[in-house]
Amino acid sequence: MFRIGHEEINAVKDVIESRELFKVNSSMHAVENAEKKLREIMGVDYAIMMTSGKAALISALIALGIGPGDEVIVPGYTYIASAIAVVAVGAIPVIAEVDETLTLDANDVEKKVSKYTKAIMPVHIQGFPSNMDALKAVAEKHGLFIVEDSCQADGGRYHGKRLGTIGDAGAYSFNYYKVITAGGEGGALVTNNRQIFERGLIYHDSSAIAYFGNQLDSITEPVFCGTEYRVGEVMGAILGAQLDRLDSILADLRRIHNKITSAVSDVTTFVPSNDRDGACCTTVALRFESEKEARAFAISEGVNGTLPIDTGKHVYTNWTPIMEKRGALNPLSDPFKRPENAHLNMNYSPDMCPKTLEYLSRSVYIPIHSEWSDDVVESKIAAIRRALSDN
Ligand SMILES: *Cc1c(COP(=O)(O)O)cnc(C)c1O
Repeated sequence: MFRIGHEEINAVKDVIESRELFKVNSSMHAVENAEKKLREIMGVDYAIMMTSGKAALISALIALGIGPGDEVIVPGYTYIASAIAVVAVGAIPVIAEVDETLTLDANDVEKKVSKYTKAIMPVHIQGFPSNMDALKAVAEKHGLFIVEDSCQADGGRYHGKRLGTIGDAGAYSFNYYKVITAGGEGGALVTNNRQIFERGLIYHDSSAIAYFGNQLDSITEPVFCGTEYRVGEVMGAILGAQLDRLDSILADLRRIHNKITSAVSDVTTFVPSNDRDGACCTTVALRFESEKEARAFAISEGVNGTLPIDTGKHVYTNWTPIMEKRGALNPLSDPFKRPENAHLNMNYSPDMCPKTLEYLSRSVYIPIHSEWSDDVVESKIAAIRRALSDN
């Protein structure tokens, strides 16, 4: 969350005063309006607001028919939720390297494709766009679906297109830590595919399926048993107001990011990007020759840097329930123990993605904020330059 204020308060007040807090029969249409805005902003045919980004990832995988017997390739550097979403549908996450951009390495994906692979899940981590052209080429060659985890990349772009809208389906997160929020939690599934949309609707609200968000008159897909990932009108109201701010938040992040990077580009190297203009620019990402140099820089006064290798559950070595293959409490529902999955690639080990660990150990993130004043930006530039000349 970068910016919130009276617009959100007023939108929530209107919804509460209406006393119609349930999206299916509200005259306020707050969720419906947020979904409409989301479709317009992202340039996509269908959108479903959900309780979280992970709910949207799970719904996308379900809608693609992915389950036991299937492998889904995920990068070794992403929040653990991406991999757990695969396990949640009964499939097996196959962990692949990231490349120098810290996003899914298309060459390693190609090496890890098997006859059981059904989908690949590029993750636009820190708002850095994945190499979608290369990943699409691999997906097309092998007949794989693409589910974009755009949870950290609300509003970002790749070659002009919004992240999340390039693959078969995309997931956004609006939890407190993301570019925009729906009130501390929230997410959305987006797609241009009507079947994925219908199945996502069914899965996210299987007991009622009375809500089409004004995007359809009726559903043609047979109803199946799903779960409840519905959101209420209060979340819709907040997201609607936040979506109006999205592009201005991104413009400020990019302006600050570019000011910092151009002021230090003569003395450092950056993590390369698949689309520097389209990135969300929530961090400045620097690249060093060694972990030692990276660590010395990160702790220098005023830098406030973090090595991505230290970001806990974003690194596959720390995905304890995956690495230790505990996919469910009940062993019969555990994808890692199911006979259908016995022959799939789940040979996890801490050294399985050495390049990923190396890149993460030699990079430093400096988080930036869209509200930083020119003075704050100038002192950050000074701190970075001082730290680099000390090293
Ligand atoms: C935050 C995040 C998620 C999950 O989003 P929630 O809304 O918290 O469920 C998934 N993937 C990535 C990469 C994330 O950063």
